[in-house]
Amino acid sequence: MSGQTEDLSDAGEIAAIREAVRALCADFPGDYWRECDRTRAYPAAFVAALTKAGFLAALIPEAYGGSGLSMRAAAAIMEEIHAAGCNGAACHAQMYTMGTLLRHGSEAQKREYLPAIARGELRLQAFGVTEPTSGTDTLSLRTTAVREGDAYVVNGQKIWTSRAEYSDLMLLLARTTPREKAKTRTEGLSVFLVDMRTVRDRGLTIRPIRTMMNHATTEVFFDNMRVPAANLIGEEGRGFRYILSGMNAERILIAAECIGDAKWFIERATSYAKERVLFGRPIGQNQGVQFPVARAYAQMRAAELMVREAAGRYDAGADCGAEANMAKLLAADASWTAADMCVQTHGGFGFAEEYDVERKFRETRLYQVAPISTNLILSYLAEHVLGLPRSY
Ligand SMILES: Cc1cc2nc3c(=O)[nH]c(=O)nc-3n(C[C@H](O)[C@H](O)[C@H](O)COP(=O)(O)OP(=O)(O)OC[C@H]3O[C@@H](n4cnc5c(N)ncnc54)[C@H](O)[C@@H]3O)c2cc1C
Repeated sequence: MSGQTEDLSDAGEIAAIREAVRALCADFPGDYWRECDRTRAYPAAFVAALTKAGFLAALIPEAYGGSGLSMRAAAAIMEEIHAAGCNGAACHAQMYTMGTLLRHGSEAQKREYLPAIARGELRLQAFGVTEPTSGTDTLSLRTTAVREGDAYVVNGQKIWTSRAEYSDLMLLLARTTPREKAKTRTEGLSVFLVDMRTVRDRGLTIRPIRTMMNHATTEVFFDNMRVPAANLIGEEGRGFRYILSGMNAERILIAAECIGDAKWFIERATSYAKERVLFGRPIGQNQGVQFPVARAYAQMRAAELMVREAAGRYDAGADCGAEANMAKLLAADASWTAADMCVQTHGGFGFAEEYDVERKFRETRLYQVAPISTNLILSYLAEHVLGLPRSY
């Protein structure tokens, strides 16, 4: 199906990247993912192959050892992974979490960490923002970091800290000034680069959470965890802004994953509808079967254009907040519509493990909720783009 959707502007470098990602993913077919899913195993071999090929270092500038590719190229990588039936959630954060360090870290921090991250020697793919009591209301988070000499002492808890067990570093958002003493609503939070190797079981406890799909997510507990003051990113108190500045990249890349998922579902449904013969003809000859596939395709293509628009604006250095949010919203809706359509097209076989449809269905459901839920995107558009009154 990719032949039908090839963007003419994808000539050259991005087309070659797509081809290379497809070739790599061919080594990780459905039975590999089914086995990981069944045993809730981390897809270590897949992540190692992506790392070795340099794909996860796409957005790290060449000056720090990465390949300095555009957001469009990075989005193409994530899309192809998902279109091939693989799942980038095991490692996508390695691509973008470093953005906070890149934009707001000191030169010394960048020199210390980015080249090792680019080489795959250091994994920075844990992102500790969400907490059980505050959820989406990030400014109400309760984890505190209190300065004591040359360190900060961290106490509190995070939830849904994905990949914490498979990461060396964690980007952590914690409160350094009590809310009532902060100058503004958004001040008083700070970002730290926590070297989890030094504090695991010495102030840091990680507990896996089993979820409906294989996602290596965890809850983490901080009990007087000491973080060197040198690991503070940027200025104390400005962390919320730093985290927000990384969200556009995350949204665009995850939207690209959703486009990949939608392509996978549409391709599977189309093939099945051509092959499955009932009442003496392929089921795909019935318009009742054709139309949902065609609708899912149109919805995916529209969302894909928004993802490209958002990535293009990001690469041009233009404001892309609205486009990144709309891309995430539309692409997550497109992948979910396509997932539901694909199950329906397969009838009972849509529920059988060996077809991979039910696995991908479970996997793509996440993107209605994380990394930001649909309602919160709609609220952003309503208030920040359309100027409607704030609701919270
Ligand atoms: C598998 C998985 C992996 C994740 N990985 C990470 C990670 O690595 N790091 C991290 O920090 N977080 C992670 N998250 C957390 C994720 O970002 C949050 O789950 C998501 O932002 C929603 O927050 P919540 O779960 O606390 O829901 P809540 O904030 O409790 O919201 C519950 C529901 O209410 C709705 N809602 C809330 N407030 C409003 C409002 N004002 N108006 C309308 N609707 C509203 C929401 O849209 C949502 O549907 C992950 C989550 C999951 C499930």
